[in-house]
Amino acid sequence: MRFDTIIIGAGLAGMTAAIRLAESGAKVAVVSAGRSALLFNTGSFGLLGFDTAHNKVNDRAKALTELPEDHPYSKIGAGGIPSLADEARALLERCGLAFRCSSNWNNHDRISPLGIFRPAWLTLDGLICESTLADMPYRRAAVVGLAGFLDFYPRFIAASLRKAGYECDVFTVDTPDLQALRASETEMRAVNIERTLHGYGLIRFAEELKKLNIPSDATLILPSVIDKDELEIFNQFLRRPFLFAPTLGVSLPGISIHNAMVSRLKELGGRIFNGHRVNGADYEDNRLTGVTTDKLDDDRLVADNYIFAAGSFFSHGLMAEPDSIVEPVLGLDVDAPQERSAWFTPDLFGAQPVMKSGVATDGDFKAKRDGKAITNLYAVGSVLSGADSVREDSGAGVAMLTALRVADSIIKHN
Ligand SMILES: Cc1cc2nc3c(=O)[nH]c(=O)nc-3n(C[C@H](O)[C@H](O)[C@H](O)COP(=O)(O)OP(=O)(O)OC[C@H]3O[C@@H](n4cnc5c(N)ncnc54)[C@H](O)[C@@H]3O)c2cc1C
Repeated sequence: MRFDTIIIGAGLAGMTAAIRLAESGAKVAVVSAGRSALLFNTGSFGLLGFDTAHNKVNDRAKALTELPEDHPYSKIGAGGIPSLADEARALLERCGLAFRCSSNWNNHDRISPLGIFRPAWLTLDGLICESTLADMPYRRAAVVGLAGFLDFYPRFIAASLRKAGYECDVFTVDTPDLQALRASETEMRAVNIERTLHGYGLIRFAEELKKLNIPSDATLILPSVIDKDELEIFNQFLRRPFLFAPTLGVSLPGISIHNAMVSRLKELGGRIFNGHRVNGADYEDNRLTGVTTDKLDDDRLVADNYIFAAGSFFSHGLMAEPDSIVEPVLGLDVDAPQERSAWFTPDLFGAQPVMKSGVATDGDFKAKRDGKAITNLYAVGSVLSGADSVREDSGAGVAMLTALRVADSIIKHN
C-alpha cells in the first residue's frame, strides 16, 4: 500500500503531523500499535513549565534561549517557537477543541490531579485553571469527591485553593448508580463513571449534589467524569457554576482530545491502521523504502516520507536493555548515557539523565542510523532525545511543535 507519508504512532505528535499533512492534501496513513500518552492527558498542555535550573518559567521567550543545543526546541530555534505554538493551537481548534491560555505568551497555572498548581501552555475550557478561577462569581469553591473514587483528591485540591486565597470546603456525593459501580473496585474509573452518569444517572447525580447543603455562592469543583455532550442537561438541573478538575488514570479530557484528533484526520481522508505494530523496515542508500506491520502479512506500507512518532519508554518507542537504551523497531541511533550507572543520579527528585534519552536526529529531525541521517525518515515527539518532558513540563509542546516543524518541511519540499 502506497502513501505520501506514513506516520508511526498515533499519540499527540503523530496525530499532529498527520492532520497537518492531510490538511495540505497529502495522502497519509498512521500506524498505531495501541493507546498513547494522550489518553492519560490531564487536559492541560505543557510547553515549557520549568527552566534548566528547575525554576518555574516566568519569561518563556528567555527560558527557550537558555536550553541546551541538543534540546528539540533549540533545533527548531527559539525564534520559531511562538509561531509554531500558535499553529498548534489553531490545529487543535480546527479539531473542535476549545482552550484557555494566558493572554500574553507566557504560562498560566492549572491544577494537577494531585491538586498542585503547575504551569501550562493550554488548558481545555471547563477545567480549573488560572483564568477559569478568575471567572468564578465569588472567591469561594466547594470541591466535591465521589464516594469510593480513588483517582481524585478533593482535599489536596481544596488545600491548594485555600493557599491561593479561595474559601473552600470539601463534600462527598454518592448515588445508587455509583454504589452499583463500586461493587467492583476496578470499575471506579473515570471512564466507567462517565458511562454511569448519563441521562437519568446524571440527573440523579445532580439531585444528590443539590442535597449537600453547599453554600450558594460557591463554585462546584468536580472530577472530570461527565461527558461534554451532557453538560447542558447537567447545567439545567444543577443551575449553579461548576468547573472540572483532572483525574488520574485514563482521563476524559485525554480521551476527548484523542477522539477529536482522530475524527479530524478521518474527515480529511487520512487512514489509521489501528492495532498495527510496525515490526520491520527496509533501507536502501540512506532511504527508508517501506515498513511492515504485525497484521499485514507480506504487504509492505510504502511512502515518500516516514515520520517516527512512537513515543518514549511508556509507549515502547524506546526500550531499556540491561546495558543500553535502544529503539527497538527501525534500528535507529539513540542518544543516551553510555554506562547504566550514569542513567540515574542518587537524588530521587533531581534530574535523571536517562530521561533525556531518545532517537538521535540531525538539525532537521531526520533520524540517524549508523551515524548517518536517513533522508526520508523523521523523528518527532517524546521519542526524540534532548528533552526531559516530565521535569520540564514540555511534553505536549515538544510533541506538537516538532511534528509541525517536520510536517511543514515535508510540505515545503514537495
Ligand atoms: C502517562 C502520561 C501522561 C502525560 N500527561 C501529560 C499531560 O497531561 N500534559 C502534557 O503536556 N504532557 C503529558 N505527558 C507527556 C507526553 O509525553 C506528551 O504530552 C505527549 O503526549 C507525547 O506524545 P507522543 O506522540 O510523542 O508519544 P505517545 O503519546 O507515547 O504516542 C506514541 C504512539 O506510538 C505508538 N507506537 C509505539 N511503537 C509503535 C510501533 N512499533 N508501531 C506502531 N505504533 C507504535 C504507541 O502505541 C502510541 O500510540 C504525559 C506522559 C505520560 C507518559
